[in-house]
Amino acid sequence: MTKIGLEIHCQLTNLESKLFCSCKANYREFKINENICPICMGLPGSLPRLNQEAVKKATIIAMALNCTTPEKIAFFRKNYFYPDLPKNFQITQLNIYGNTSVGGPGSIMVGDKKIRITRIQLEEDPGRLIYEGSSSKNQITLVDYNRAGTPLVEIVTEPDFENPKQVRDFLNILSDLLENLGVSDPSLEGAMRADANVSIQGGNKVEIKNIGSFHDLEKAVHFEITRQESLHSRDIQIVQETRHWDDRRKITISSRSKEEDLDYRYFLEGDIPWVSISDEIKDELKSKMPESISSKKERYVSKYNIPGQVADVLSSDKFYSDLFEESHTPENAKEIANIITTDLMGLVDTREKRRDSKFTATHLKDLAESIQSGKISRNSAKNALHEIVRTGKSLSQIMSELDLGNVSDESELSEVIQQIMSEEQQAVKEAKSNPKTINYLVGKVMQKTKGKADPAMTLNLLKNRLVSDD
Ligand SMILES: [Zn+2]
Repeated sequence: MTKIGLEIHCQLTNLESKLFCSCKANYREFKINENICPICMGLPGSLPRLNQEAVKKATIIAMALNCTTPEKIAFFRKNYFYPDLPKNFQITQLNIYGNTSVGGPGSIMVGDKKIRITRIQLEEDPGRLIYEGSSSKNQITLVDYNRAGTPLVEIVTEPDFENPKQVRDFLNILSDLLENLGVSDPSLEGAMRADANVSIQGGNKVEIKNIGSFHDLEKAVHFEITRQESLHSRDIQIVQETRHWDDRRKITISSRSKEEDLDYRYFLEGDIPWVSISDEIKDELKSKMPESISSKKERYVSKYNIPGQVADVLSSDKFYSDLFEESHTPENAKEIANIITTDLMGLVDTREKRRDSKFTATHLKDLAESIQSGKISRNSAKNALHEIVRTGKSLSQIMSELDLGNVSDESELSEVIQQIMSEEQQAVKEAKSNPKTINYLVGKVMQKTKGKADPAMTLNLLKNRLVSDD
């Protein structure tokens, strides 16, 4: 049996400042080594001051993952020497005196599978190493400390996953959840990183480190299972070790023997007092927590009769569900959900496209109303949406510029129908004896009007003409 456990590092990207100083949490917009100060560089005499907002955000994550939250939390020093760690220790959490990390045991459902969460801890991110040089001989390593000290939440699971697909499903659910909570933007480079431990057939556990994206995590786990199965089939003992994910070659390679907790010489961080999180604070955080994805989905289905699958897609993406909330009314909800999930999601499917697109909630409202009142066909609406996303012009302007309005003028439509009926005499005969074949004629009218004939009106007029023709 395969057992997989995960340690997920998630940056709290929506915070103003780093975890223990006033440098910016958004280190991405700075030049190299510009977003630093004596505190995050660990200069002698500097003292950390805890970012209270980070504690709140981490507690919200713990609550959303059904974890217990302790009355008091504590911070520890994890001592190790590595160039990306200017202080030579990382301030993190450890449950040595009972549960004193922001989140204790919890769980989350992934389909029918319950994944147990071991703990959630708040810690600082190290800096970033940048490797330069074309070959291993002339390679140099540079350090950028802009990231050092930014707030990171580590989510540790029990080894409850049995295959890479469960891992992927869990990661999708988790990143949607974190985004929905407004604590992190998982699409930012480096915002989500992970370690995984994998064992098969009750054998030794192998830890894979340094997996830079969720996409690679699934690949790394898959590779590691295959590697271990191959060794196992040849009766070769699987060594307990730490392996490193090489994201260029897409393989895991043996790195160093695994450190144990003892190696890190953990001790209480004396510069940060224990922080109590009262029931009042917890109640307040709970009351301010955004509606969960599952409850959103339920509401969309029960209140607006939106099909389950559409509601599922819509509710799990914060960007689109926010847009839906802003634009829908009880009357147009179903239509708006339809426009978003069938057309808009395909048009703006990346972060860059979202940023550059020019549409607003008002555009969506106008589109839905025009479709519902028969002013524009679905097909033309799709073309209009394309233009809206590109230009931001109003729907009415685009409809007149591209001549997208429906033909709903009765005399104009009657003329077209007259023409079709004279061209399609055989079909007219058939439609008279078998009314089901009338759709062929409707199709012809649509073709002639380039899809702009009002479908209901066309059908009505056609039926009347067929009867009066007799
Ligand atoms: Zn700083």
